[in-house]
Amino acid sequence: MDLYEYQARNLFRQHGVPVLDGAVATTPEEARSAAQSLLGAGSELVVVKAQVKTGGRGKAGGVKLARTAAEAEARARDILGMDIKGHTVRAVLISDGVDIEVEYYFSILLDRAERQYLAMCSREGGMDIETLAAERPEALARVGIDPLEGITPAVAHRIVQAAGFEAGSLADDVAAVIERLWEVFTAEDATLVEVNPLVKAADGRIIALDGKVTLDDNSRFRHPAHAELVDSAATDPLEACAREAGLNYVRLEGQVGVLGNGAGLVMSTLDVVAGAGERHGGMKPANFLDLGGGSSAEVMATGLEVVASDPQVHAILVNVFGGITSCDTVAQGIVTAVESLGGLPKPVVVRLDGNNADTGRAILADAAIEGVTVVDTMDGAADVVTAIAEKISGRPAGKEA
Ligand code: GDP
Ligand code: MN
Repeated sequence: MDLYEYQARNLFRQHGVPVLDGAVATTPEEARSAAQSLLGAGSELVVVKAQVKTGGRGKAGGVKLARTAAEAEARARDILGMDIKGHTVRAVLISDGVDIEVEYYFSILLDRAERQYLAMCSREGGMDIETLAAERPEALARVGIDPLEGITPAVAHRIVQAAGFEAGSLADDVAAVIERLWEVFTAEDATLVEVNPLVKAADGRIIALDGKVTLDDNSRFRHPAHAELVDSAATDPLEACAREAGLNYVRLEGQVGVLGNGAGLVMSTLDVVAGAGERHGGMKPANFLDLGGGSSAEVMATGLEVVASDPQVHAILVNVFGGITSCDTVAQGIVTAVESLGGLPKPVVVRLDGNNADTGRAILADAAIEGVTVVDTMDGAADVVTAIAEKISGRPAGKEA
């Protein structure tokens, strides 16, 4: 899960990383009063910052300075509702502003290929890091972090030295902030912590001016506090329902719902459906849904319900390769699921293969559920389901039953 900047800054604060005060506003009036209290408390400058989960807000006009509450209100009015790389701005952070002397860059991320962490640091922050890495790679220090050792004071000093900071109090101050950021990374189970820019203010303070944090969703169970960080307004309700049921579901743009067991099988099913769709009116897979290993009747029912309730779906393909879970269990699951749903809301094509496939097909044949077609091969099933979807999508809306 990616965090908004204000959420990242809150986590930073909790772990002792120096950040500026601020408050979130969703209306220009709120922005005005937030600016009023910061300015009243002695700030001379506030910054109005679009809260969207994408970078380059500054360049897009989503970060503006203001010196009065009225100015902050006007800037918030400009920024709220703005579209930044496809993200609509629904909130702004009204932050204390600072007189910047230098902008640095620092990040920690998971380096899967090297099976360790990677710290990156540069004295040339503020700009887009991909550009810096491409144009001046020597200005970006890359230091591998042994996960068992972590960023100790010695390692933090090695990082700042690699970035070209001369030994001295500035290097010490930056290293100290890096140690705190490492604590954020490990204590919160993040896979990315990025600060661009990490600034040296005119008064000498080192401050994390921006924050980008990605939390590892697999660690959610040990961070009850992270539940509050979920942006439920932006979460697809179908994805939320699937997640609650423990299903791995990703909504795509298409007409053919897809359910299968095993991520690899489901991914290849998406490809095969997209391929078959080219012969059938450009039908495309509408989602990824992995039922997982168990594929019990209950899981099948939830899966079918989630996929079928997606209004863009015209027809559904259930593609199961029986391994540890045998096909008769899956077939029984489909029958029970249809009973519990009180019938099938949309046509379903089922392909069963592998362990006990014959028994599974026989169960479905006996059940003779209206709207269920059994096809023996994956290619054949994709062909049939895209043909059905094409036929339905050709009908005028509301005449699908
Ligand atoms: P991003 O463009 O999405 O990465 O947003 P940032 O939070 O990094 O802000 C973009 C730029 O706005 C920074 O690189 C700074 O140059 C500028 N900026 C942000 N906050 C302040 C501030 O408090 N004072 C000043 N002078 N500039 C700021
Ligand atoms: Mn930034």
